[in-house]
Amino acid sequence: MTIEHDTRPAAVEVREAVKSFGALTVLDGVDLIVAPGKVTVIIGPSGSGKSTLLRAINHLEKLDQGYVSINGEPIGVRRHGDRLKELPERRILEQRKRIGFVFQNFNLFPHLTAVQNVAEAPIATGAASRAEALAQARDLLAGVGLAGKEHAYPRHLSGGQQQRVAIARAIAQRPGVILFDEPTSALDPELVGEVLSAIKDLASTGTTLVIVTHEIAFAREVADEVVFLDGGRIVEQGPPHQVLDQPQHPRTREFLSKVL
Ligand code: ADP
Ligand code: MG
Repeated sequence: MTIEHDTRPAAVEVREAVKSFGALTVLDGVDLIVAPGKVTVIIGPSGSGKSTLLRAINHLEKLDQGYVSINGEPIGVRRHGDRLKELPERRILEQRKRIGFVFQNFNLFPHLTAVQNVAEAPIATGAASRAEALAQARDLLAGVGLAGKEHAYPRHLSGGQQQRVAIARAIAQRPGVILFDEPTSALDPELVGEVLSAIKDLASTGTTLVIVTHEIAFAREVADEVVFLDGGRIVEQGPPHQVLDQPQHPRTREFLSKVL
């Protein structure tokens, strides 16, 4: 019998990430490895650094120490001897296009229709012709259950529909990884399921996902790895049945007792 090793670089690698805002240390030495095609769910109390960690992954926040790589490529910086040097803004924007980001508040362009929102980046970057990008956008919208809503403006869509447009838009960039920051927190409870279901479908396609959420049942079903962040540190991580059902650390137990 042979054991197959995955020799590809990690889809996401965060090494010794440290970030402070003034006197407040928000990331206090975070190490995180996400293998290609895997789903990592990050849980943790408000203020524990979850959003800062996601924002650091696509260099919306600059780390004070440590670094992030996506598929083996350092993000936002390049090695210069034994130091890291900030890349020019233009290069950072190029890198960021390969990292999808789905926000709590959808962040759609209000003056563009659903199909235009999804096709905007592929057209702007020249990744596809206008006709190709629009055809692909229609397919992606159908894939998240929005066939027939192509020409609706965001203000005419429910929160759950807007978030599904945002997911289709993230997929349209064909990113190596998609980051989700509490994608269902702004939704009315009856709309949460349709968005989680779209994310679940995406997970089954083998796209690498990093998802911050308080939806514990969803995490149990979809995550390969659950990470509990508290006070800017990873307190516990492992497969869902371990972290969610048999947490070892008292802080994990206390947090789960509040959200479950
Ligand atoms: P979470 O997403 O887990 O709720 P955040 O990463 O948003 O936590 O924030 C962690 C801490 O960092 C919080 O105390 C927050 O107030 C603080 N913080 C986040 N961004 C900034 C900023 N730009 N300036 C100052 N403090 C910030
Ligand atoms: Mg947050």
